[in-house]
Amino acid sequence: MTHQVLGKSIGQWTQEFPLLNDLMECREVSWFNTKRVPCQQAITDVGLTKADIDDAADRLKRFSPLIKELFPETKSTEGIIESPLVAVPDHRDALGRRYGADLPGQLWAKLDSELPISGSIKARGGIYEVLKHAEDLAIQAGLLTYEDDYRKLASPAMRSFFNGYTIAVGSTGNLGLSIGIMSAALGFDASVHMSADARQWKKDKLRAHGVHVYEYQDDYSVAVAAGRKQSAGDPKAYFVDDENSPTLFLGYAVAARRLAGQLNAYDVRVDEANPLFVYLPCGVGGSPGGVAFGLKTVFGDNVHCIFVEPTHCPSMLLGVYTGRNNEVSVQDFGIDNITAADGLACGRPSQFVGKAMGRLIDGFCTVEDDELFRIEATLHDTAGIDIEPSSAAGFACPWRVLADAQYHQQIGLDEEAVIHATHLAWITGGSMVPREEMASYIAKGEQLLH
Ligand SMILES: *Cc1c(COP(=O)(O)O)cnc(C)c1O
Repeated sequence: MTHQVLGKSIGQWTQEFPLLNDLMECREVSWFNTKRVPCQQAITDVGLTKADIDDAADRLKRFSPLIKELFPETKSTEGIIESPLVAVPDHRDALGRRYGADLPGQLWAKLDSELPISGSIKARGGIYEVLKHAEDLAIQAGLLTYEDDYRKLASPAMRSFFNGYTIAVGSTGNLGLSIGIMSAALGFDASVHMSADARQWKKDKLRAHGVHVYEYQDDYSVAVAAGRKQSAGDPKAYFVDDENSPTLFLGYAVAARRLAGQLNAYDVRVDEANPLFVYLPCGVGGSPGGVAFGLKTVFGDNVHCIFVEPTHCPSMLLGVYTGRNNEVSVQDFGIDNITAADGLACGRPSQFVGKAMGRLIDGFCTVEDDELFRIEATLHDTAGIDIEPSSAAGFACPWRVLADAQYHQQIGLDEEAVIHATHLAWITGGSMVPREEMASYIAKGEQLLH
């Protein structure tokens, strides 16, 4: 019997979805979403509202005095975990020379690589979910009210209260770091189930924080399943479900209102004549999905969110393009999910992000691993910013957007608006990568460039 996926042969799949041929060959593709509709029509697909994001932001504010106390590196932002926004014009020009086209308009980088506590975008969703769980437990037990000074949660009594509870998560690395560090800081008994891609230094760091680290010689989905299983049936165990968590999603979504303030501070206008294109590296889909949802609630149809994946793991693209979301994995189609972009190595997309965001995402780009290293080296040379390979993905995409006249037509973008567009690559991780490892990434990129 020939190999079948959901009852259809690969031949039937490629006939119905011709782009699958390129995906299965791991070729770079850009796919602009034919199912995209105006924001007003699709924002209700999400099942969450702007009020939910406001609630998440309020919760982070309540926790900020505690965060400031537990993590002195957040003193300068009063316990708010936020990253800088910087323009990278020299990087834009260098990439433009290599891609053979000048990019009109500005290119910005949102440096979640510099986020305090865990150095990646996971410091938004992951930490938020741990805090929400801690608050829920403490309030249910009558040990906390919303009006309290949350610094009381750092008391020895509260730590021993939290120590009676476990938190578990499956991760390719960065989510584990965020959940593990924050859980341990509050006193929880934390377990992180790591996929084969996870870097050794991330495991070492977690163990140094007293977190239990379980290692699997397998895909991210297997690590998640193991964490889920460990927590099942234990009323004192809490599992952070990266494949299906609205709480993580809301933690990410808060980023949008903060970004709006930063853009405003730099007089970057976002309106119909000045559209904003945001490029978000995508693994299971939670972080780009949550950020994109937030952006849509702030900027509506004037923001265009494009998800970026490695050519060896185009899982969210596969799910949205075929409409089968988490029913399909890249492995079903013989795609190996082996990539240097470890943070993006999730073979099966999120259960709910594809459904929630399928009509709000503008499109997808896939990028080869070698190109990630080249971009990384270029950013190092032109801006002195060091990032991990997963984070470099977004920078390949503005030129794809620029070149695609059909897409411009699809979203009603005239030539003036193309010229006045602002492009923003979300840099999702990097500041905690050990120095030697970072040097080897950059050396690899330099070698590929020359
Ligand atoms: C996790 C991660 C992403 C993608 O987030 P998902 O929620 O898995 O889609 C992107 N970049 C880095 C560095 C990450 O760690």
